[in-house]
Amino acid sequence: MKDRLLKERCLRLKLILTDVDGVMTDGSIFVLPSGEEARVFNVKDGYGIVLAHAAGIETGIITGRASTTVTERARTLGMSVVKQGSLDKGRLFAEILAEKSLQAHEVAYIGDDYPDLPVLQQAGLSAAPADAPIAVKEAAFMIMENAGGRGALREFIESILRAREALVPTLASLGIEIRD
Ligand SMILES: [Mg+2]
Repeated sequence: MKDRLLKERCLRLKLILTDVDGVMTDGSIFVLPSGEEARVFNVKDGYGIVLAHAAGIETGIITGRASTTVTERARTLGMSVVKQGSLDKGRLFAEILAEKSLQAHEVAYIGDDYPDLPVLQQAGLSAAPADAPIAVKEAAFMIMENAGGRGALREFIESILRAREALVPTLASLGIEIRD
């Protein structure tokens, strides 16, 4: 039953959004002596973004903190949406829907903390990393086996592609043959 619901939800998706701190990272922020911030991103998540694009799904970021490292990471990966600098993530999500002419059921979101709840509740498909607080996991449609910064985003994207029966053909389009 849940598999069929998952497939229906995944087939409607046009955009996958992710939180940054605690999803694309383990939540750590290095504060350098200059006051600048640095983050560690996971290459496996990065390749998940590549797979989403190859499958014809756009990607983007919603994050409460404003940072040039986030802008640069999104640019490197070719992510088409970057919304930063407000803890009112529900408002950022509404702005994205308006700007992209999308409906909430066409957008997936993964987030790890309480400010993510409005988006987790509205998105057509939602997920939380394994190390999110219980109330956040309860609000999400899916709970990942991996933690933030440890492959949660990659797992979310692969789950979506699998449910769309798109993982094998997407990899084949990149010259990679797998049995799934
Ligand atoms: Mg977070």
